[in-house]
Amino acid sequence: MTEVDFDVLIIGAGLSGIGVARYLSKRCPSKRYAILEARERMGGTWDLFRYPGIRSDSDMHTMGYSFKPWRHTKAISDGHLIREYVEETAEENGIAPKIRYRHKVTRAEWDSTATRWTLTCETPEGTQRLTARMLFLAAGYYKFHEGYRPDFPGEKDFRGGMIHPQFWPEDYDPAGKRIAVIGSGATAVTLTPTLAQSATKVYQVQRSPTYVTSRPSEDRIGNLLKRVFPGRAGYTLARWRIILRGAMLRRKFAKDIKGAKRLLIGGVGQQLQGCVPEWERHFTPDYWPWQQRLCLVPDGDFFAVLREGTAEMVTGHIERFTPEGVLMTDGRRLEVDTIVTATGLVLDYFGGMEMVVDGQHVDPGKQLIFKGFMYSNVPNMIYFRGYTNASWTLKVDLVAEYACRLLKHMDRKGVRQVVPAATSADFAKMSDSIAFTSGYFLRVRHRLPKHGEDFPWIHKQDYMWDRKTLKRGAVDDGTLVFSNGEPVIFPPEQQADADGIAAE
Ligand SMILES: Cc1cc2nc3c(=O)[nH]c(=O)nc-3n(C[C@H](O)[C@H](O)[C@H](O)COP(=O)(O)OP(=O)(O)OC[C@H]3O[C@@H](n4cnc5c(N)ncnc54)[C@H](O)[C@@H]3O)c2cc1C
Repeated sequence: MTEVDFDVLIIGAGLSGIGVARYLSKRCPSKRYAILEARERMGGTWDLFRYPGIRSDSDMHTMGYSFKPWRHTKAISDGHLIREYVEETAEENGIAPKIRYRHKVTRAEWDSTATRWTLTCETPEGTQRLTARMLFLAAGYYKFHEGYRPDFPGEKDFRGGMIHPQFWPEDYDPAGKRIAVIGSGATAVTLTPTLAQSATKVYQVQRSPTYVTSRPSEDRIGNLLKRVFPGRAGYTLARWRIILRGAMLRRKFAKDIKGAKRLLIGGVGQQLQGCVPEWERHFTPDYWPWQQRLCLVPDGDFFAVLREGTAEMVTGHIERFTPEGVLMTDGRRLEVDTIVTATGLVLDYFGGMEMVVDGQHVDPGKQLIFKGFMYSNVPNMIYFRGYTNASWTLKVDLVAEYACRLLKHMDRKGVRQVVPAATSADFAKMSDSIAFTSGYFLRVRHRLPKHGEDFPWIHKQDYMWDRKTLKRGAVDDGTLVFSNGEPVIFPPEQQADADGIAAE
C-alpha cells in the first residue's frame, strides 16, 4: 500500500475546519491529520472581517458547535467573541499544534492507483507537497483576498475615501463624517447603525429592498435554560428550542409565503410607520422570504437610527459618482466624505484550488451535489458548508459526525476509496434551477455545482432531514461506491473544458 503523510488533511482553520478537527480527534483518535490554512491566524471569516459592529446574524446557540456551549449572554454575537470561541475550541482540544499556517493549497490531485490525494501548497518556505487518504474541504465559500465591487461610473472623480468592508482600515474614524453605505445585505445593515453613532449622517444606498427583521440580541429563555441547567444540558435545550422553532416557522411559512411576507413587512412598519417617509418602498422586496438570507438586526438598532434621522435609506439606481459623492438616476445628489461599498462577496469553490481526479480536471460548474457534502465522482473528499436558511454550524456538525462514521466504516471494511458515483443518467436530470437568489449566487451561477432531480443528488437545506439521513441513516446506503482504488472515469457531462479550471 502506498504510504501517505496523513490520513486526513483538512483545508481551512475557520469555524468549520476547527469543528471538524475536534470531531476527528475525539471520534477517530488514531487518525493522523493536519490543518492547512492559507492565512496566518485561525478563525476564517471571524478573523478576516474587522468592520465596525461586525457580528453574527444568526443566534450563537445554533451557530456554536453542539459540543461546546456558548457561554456569553448575547446570542447575536460580536465577531471577535466568535473568533475567541473558535480559538478556545482549538486550544481545549489540542488542535492548535496541528495547524500549518501560511499553507495555501493551490492544487489537489487524486490518484486512484495510489488511493491518495497529493496537495500542492504555497508556503513561505516555497512549494510543498503533502499526501493524504482523505481530504476535508473546510475552505468556506468566498474569496478572502477579493470583495465584490461593481465599477461605478465616475469613481475616479470622487474626492473622498472609499472602503470595502472586507478590508476595513483600522484607523478609519467615522466621527463627524457623511457616509454613503452602498448595499442592502447583512453587512450594510450592520454598518449603518454602527457608523451612525458618531457620523454626521449615513445614507444607506440600495438598488432594491431586502427583508429586515429585528430580534432581541439576547435569547432570554435560552439564557434562563443555561442558568437553570448549567453546562451542556442547558445549552442543548437552548439550542433545540431554536432549532425546533426555526423548523416550525419554516414549515408554517412554506405553506403561506404571502403571510410570511406580510408579517415581515408589517414588522418593519411597526418600527418605522409615521417616522420614516415611504418606508414601504425601502422595505418591500421583489422576491419571496428566504430566497435570500434574511437580514436580522439586534434590538432594532438599525430601525432606531432611521427613526432618529442619523441614517437614511436611499432606494434607487446610482447614475455615477461625482467629486462630492453620489448622483442617483432620479437626480438626487448625496454629498459625502466616504463611500463604503458593502456590495458583497466573490464566491469561490474548492478554496480557489485546482482539483484533478485521475488526470481529469474537476470543474465545479459541472458537478452534482451529493447530499450537500460530496461531489459526483470525486473520491475521498468531503466538503463542509452550512445552510443558507439556518446557522452554518448546524450542518457542519452533522457532516463532521458522518465523516467520522465513514472513516470508521472504511477501516472496518478494509477499503481505501469512496466515490459518490454519478452516471450520464444522473447528469441528464441535472437541475439549473436556483432557489436562492442572492446576488453573489446569481453572479456565478454557471460555476455553481448543480442539483439532480432526487436523492442523493440534492441538498435540501433542511436540518431535520439531514439529521435523519446523516446521523441515523446507514453509512453505506447503496449510494456510495467503495473500493481499493478503482479508476474514476468522468462521464462526458462532467468533463471540464479543454483548459480545465482556467475556463472560469
Ligand atoms: C460577514 C459575514 C457574516 C456571517 N454571519 C453568519 C451568521 O451570522 N450565521 C451563519 O450561520 N453564517 C454566517 N456567515 C457565513 C460564515 O461564513 C460561516 O458562518 C462560517 O464562519 C464559515 O466558516 P468556514 O470555516 O466554513 O469558512 P471561512 O470562515 O470562510 O474559513 C475558511 C478558511 O479556509 C481558509 N482557506 C480557504 N481556501 C484555502 C486554501 N486553498 N488553502 C488553505 N486555506 C484555505 C481560509 O483562509 C479561511 O481561514 C457569515 C459570513 C460573513 C462573510
